[in-house]
Amino acid sequence: MVNNTIDADPQNPVALEINDLTVAYQSKPALWDVDLKVPEGVLMAIIGPNGAGKSTLIKAALGLVPRAAGTIQFYGKPYAKARHLVGYVPQRGSVDWDFPTSVLDVAMMGLYGQLGWFRRPGRHEREKAMEALQQVGIAELANRQISQLSGGQQQRTFLARALVQDAQIYFMDEPFAAVDKVTERAIISMLRELRKRQKTVVVVHHDLQTVTDYFDWVALLNVELIASGPTAEVFTTDNLRLTYGGRVTATDTTAATPISEQQ
Ligand code: ADP
Ligand code: MG
Repeated sequence: MVNNTIDADPQNPVALEINDLTVAYQSKPALWDVDLKVPEGVLMAIIGPNGAGKSTLIKAALGLVPRAAGTIQFYGKPYAKARHLVGYVPQRGSVDWDFPTSVLDVAMMGLYGQLGWFRRPGRHEREKAMEALQQVGIAELANRQISQLSGGQQQRTFLARALVQDAQIYFMDEPFAAVDKVTERAIISMLRELRKRQKTVVVVHHDLQTVTDYFDWVALLNVELIASGPTAEVFTTDNLRLTYGGRVTATDTTAATPISEQQ
């Protein structure tokens, strides 16, 4: 592996630390010996080609797939002891949208960690969930069945669930996939709001054109971690070539010029 991973600012606490992580499906590695440190308060993109292990990295962090080797810690604790710190917005395609439940119910699921499974949500919980739905701009859809939502509305519903949870570090798997421009802008302003509140947000992202605009931290992944660190230093043509091989197109690489060399 190329040794140009930049360590997090030692001034900030480390929100996420991964060491020597290997994950394999039927003995074929999807992630190989990944080391990654993410400082608190960054908006980080995980970039890499299809099948690079981006979703697997998130699932491993959340304990949803077994690790063959390695450790993952949130503020120095394993997931089992840091659950309440971690929020997750799954890839839209991985959710059963025919499940008969309302937008408000989905938003309230963000509170289960605090409530425990046996206490029924009351007025206070409903208010918190409504607040989150307002924040993502779909309060008027609270009682709608999730099967009746557009793609953008589905995405916002899951963002609301994550907001309700009030986590410290958020994982989002391709939140911008197949949403309209208005939703994309709503999501990015929400992400910036989270960063302002010193939250850490880790986003699987595939649009290379918007990386420098949206994210201040980047991890480039292709089974191995190619590089990670501040976007201005790490999101370079050379690193993209290492990540995508010959598959970076001419239009993609225009976005890969470091910020310092643009304008
Ligand atoms: P990405 O999100 O970067 O597109 P994934 O993490 O989804 O990549 O997948 C990484 C690799 O692991 C791919 O080769 C994929 O086919 C394989 N993979 C993912 N999930 C499974 C699974 N449940 N069983 C077997 N192979 C899987
Ligand atoms: Mg994926």
